Amino acid sequence: MTFEVRFCSHCAAPLQRLMATEDGGPKERLRCAACGWTHWNNPTPVLAAVIECADRDGRLLLARNAAWSGRMFALITGFMEAGETPEQGITREIAEETALQVETLELIGVYDFQRMNQLIVAYHAVARGEIVLSPELAEYKLFEPAAVRCWRAGTGYALADWLRSRGHEPQFIELPPR
Ligand SMILES: [Zn+2]
Repeated sequence: MTFEVRFCSHCAAPLQRLMATEDGGPKERLRCAACGWTHWNNPTPVLAAVIECADRDGRLLLARNAAWSGRMFALITGFMEAGETPEQGITREIAEETALQVETLELIGVYDFQRMNQLIVAYHAVARGEIVLSPELAEYKLFEPAAVRCWRAGTGYALADWLRSRGHEPQFIELPPR
């Protein structure tokens, strides 16, 4: 869920679309006429993991978010928090959302997700342990790497790149256009 920012976070005056000269030239953005604050609207870093279950024959854990309609299974993701490294953040998210303990992490890559104004930092996580889902997640499924399907959005491209690195040509599912 995204919220539109309407008020200055410094002085609470309503924001307006105003031109100003920036390093790159004139630019219209949401700005505060009262105090000069600019709503930059920079993308938010989101951490994601392709979880390989070392104690389940190397199958991949994908989960379905309780808030989603449909039968879409996806990577475990979460927002990076202040005061942690990306590696600490994804280890925390995996523990919070699945109870799995991470053994190794390897960066897959960094992906844009412009529809949500997010930057996806995707890891391959080798993990093990009992699986206990957080209430945010409705269910999980374990997939053989050769059988998992990818989707055409940030985390889906991360999964595809990881599959290619393991010698699997990724198969994509086509989602209805939004
Ligand atoms: Zn202001």
